[in-house]
Amino acid sequence: MLVFKFGGASVKDAAGVINLAQIVSRYPKEKLLIVISAMGKMTNKLEELCKAYLNGEEEQVYLIFEAVKAYHFQIISDLFPNHQHPIYNDVANTFVEIDWLIEEEITDTPDYIYDQIVSIGEVISTKIIAAYLSEIGLKAKWLDARNFIQTDNNYREGNVNWEKTEAEIQQELLPLLDSFIGVTQGFIGGTSENFTTTLGREGSDYSAAIFSSCLNADSLTIWKDVPGVLNADPKWFDETERIPQLSYHDAIELAYYGATVIHPKTIKPIQNKNIPLFVRSFLNPDAEGTDITNAENHLPVPSFIFKVKQVLISIFPKDFSFIIEENLSDIFSLFHKHKVKINTMLNSAISFSVSIDEDPQKLQNLIEELSVQYRVKYNTGLELVTIRYYNQETIDRVTVNKNILLEVKSRHTCQIVMKDRDLNT
Ligand code: ASP
Ligand code: MG
Repeated sequence: MLVFKFGGASVKDAAGVINLAQIVSRYPKEKLLIVISAMGKMTNKLEELCKAYLNGEEEQVYLIFEAVKAYHFQIISDLFPNHQHPIYNDVANTFVEIDWLIEEEITDTPDYIYDQIVSIGEVISTKIIAAYLSEIGLKAKWLDARNFIQTDNNYREGNVNWEKTEAEIQQELLPLLDSFIGVTQGFIGGTSENFTTTLGREGSDYSAAIFSSCLNADSLTIWKDVPGVLNADPKWFDETERIPQLSYHDAIELAYYGATVIHPKTIKPIQNKNIPLFVRSFLNPDAEGTDITNAENHLPVPSFIFKVKQVLISIFPKDFSFIIEENLSDIFSLFHKHKVKINTMLNSAISFSVSIDEDPQKLQNLIEELSVQYRVKYNTGLELVTIRYYNQETIDRVTVNKNILLEVKSRHTCQIVMKDRDLNT
């Protein structure tokens, strides 16, 4: 039994869907579940739609919604020349669900509304793809992930109820895979009251890992537009290397520090069941990619993870007293309260410093509240680089023409918060 995950980039147009079908048809003898994201950048668009609705910008809502529909119907008409095909109606009916929602006054919480709107992207992509696979003679069945992935009602970041989820998947989904290729959604789940939740942005990898774990799959393959896990993002580095073998441990560390190739929550569920994770290129399905397994080998080369738009916050007790456990627990609870994630941190006798992603609204609220008790300084427009398996040479390489504001080292990992050096001074 295999689980495949295809992200938005792999199904951004009709050619992408055809390519997916070709990949799937290479596995005629396998039991197969395919987990798919929203097409192209549709989640971003639906996010915009939601925002406009919440802000009461009716015109904007209408324009974005029309663009979302047009985009999908273009793909549908490229794939299904016969306009009588039931997929046309099926997708139109799904859009009506958004119609109903946005015609109403806002009575629910923004996070709840977000999930009901944004989840449509995955529902529609999977409807189109399941219909296409069936159309070309593959026995595919559309499956509603909300019946299987059971979450609490923490909208936008649903917490999975593993017991219920495993039971549903084992009892209801597994038997279907004897006769069908299952096609289901990443990113979404359902509450016990049948409301839709989402699992956090880019959460489809995590969904695929949940399905793999609960099905006891032989492997999970994530099909990407890169040849595998690389030792740095090609956006920042000219020369990158593919990592052929990766341990679960290194994969978790890389994902945790922000390597965007795999969602950080993906590894744990498959590691617990010892299920190998293959990262492969959907552009070149025969090529080797990266195999993530319980192998104990270290990364063959140092790996670099860059984050830009960082804010370094330094927090000092107002009376020059020490930073002690009591202050720290106080400080952490404020970060937690404002949902601000810490990318790296360091404390000294009288200060505590953290680097976070820039989000002006959250930052302002957090600083305001911290300032009641502490003196707070902050610096924006910084970069954070994390080097796994660092040495001095790799540190020198990334800090050319930079001023280092903070450096944190553990045995295998070095994190540096830095700023472009002003070359004129
Ligand atoms: N479509 C969702 C997003 O873009 C989930 C995913 O792609 O993994 O965040
Ligand atoms: Mg996506």
